[in-house]
Amino acid sequence: MARVGLVYDPLYLEHDTDGHPEKAERLRAVLALLEESGLRSKLTPIAADDATMADLELVHRPDMIHWVRESIEAGERELDMDTAVSSRSYEAALRAAGGCMRATDAVLAGDIDSAFCLVRPPGHHATPGHAMGFCLFNNVAIAARHAIVRRGLERVAIADFDVHHGNGSQEAFYSDPTVLYCSTHESPLYPGTGTWREAGAGPGLGFTVNVPLPMESGDQQHRQAFETVLLPALRRFRPQLLLVSAGFDGHFADPLAWMSLSCAGYYELALMLRQAAEELCDGRLLFALEGGYDLKALAWGVRACLDVLMGNPFAPDPHGPAPASAGPDVEPLLAAIRGLHKLGN
Ligand SMILES: [Zn+2]
Repeated sequence: MARVGLVYDPLYLEHDTDGHPEKAERLRAVLALLEESGLRSKLTPIAADDATMADLELVHRPDMIHWVRESIEAGERELDMDTAVSSRSYEAALRAAGGCMRATDAVLAGDIDSAFCLVRPPGHHATPGHAMGFCLFNNVAIAARHAIVRRGLERVAIADFDVHHGNGSQEAFYSDPTVLYCSTHESPLYPGTGTWREAGAGPGLGFTVNVPLPMESGDQQHRQAFETVLLPALRRFRPQLLLVSAGFDGHFADPLAWMSLSCAGYYELALMLRQAAEELCDGRLLFALEGGYDLKALAWGVRACLDVLMGNPFAPDPHGPAPASAGPDVEPLLAAIRGLHKLGN
């Protein structure tokens, strides 16, 4: 039976963003479902600790870190138009990054096979120089650099299926050939980055793979993107660890985007990633929560991923399949991306 770790800390609830879609109730909804379904008792708890300044500086500039801390200490309620904070947000953000690092260590040490980090604030929009888009520090990017700088890995891959482009993760590794960043996301949509031609720069050219999908793309379009672009890119890169920026805001019920994924679709994406990790890196796989703003879809989406990690069948969710629609034809786009990245057919 697979040993699956869960990172969670009550401090994550104290990032209090009253009235904001990225709110503490998100984690409460997930935890309630994990308890109710009996899954939580089968997961191995992983204690999160706090990222240090040195940890944050693996990705972020010192002036950015100081600005975030000082803004929060000064009582600011938002860091930009989108990014709400409260008095405990800095501490919660340190522990979110620290939780992802400890889970990475546990996976690399073989203490667990894989893990889900149920953290907030999320991270993938946080760039080296800016907190933005509900994100303070880039949890997954910090975990990736930690694995390379501190644990001696040479190649780490990040797959990002949040409906928004992870501009922060892309920027952190744009010139870096040791981290492959692959993203499917809705386009056009916040933050506006992630066109298919953005493919890395300098020594990092070819190590950023963007699949910007049109609105109403659903399970079928994401499956095609994974099968014909993301998985071939992962196979060519041969990561030693696979990190997943797991956002569930591509679900058809999500209020912040216009995509058509279902929870069965998330199960399928997670299964493809688990199989890729088994094939390429001894199954070393870590999911970290990013977005997802319909509480039911979020909870059941996380559950679908955990069921994949634990080897369970898909448990039908209350939302069910997406409303019937063939969705857009994405094959011409995918063919162009395969051409750019020389991924064959
Ligand atoms: Zn998102």
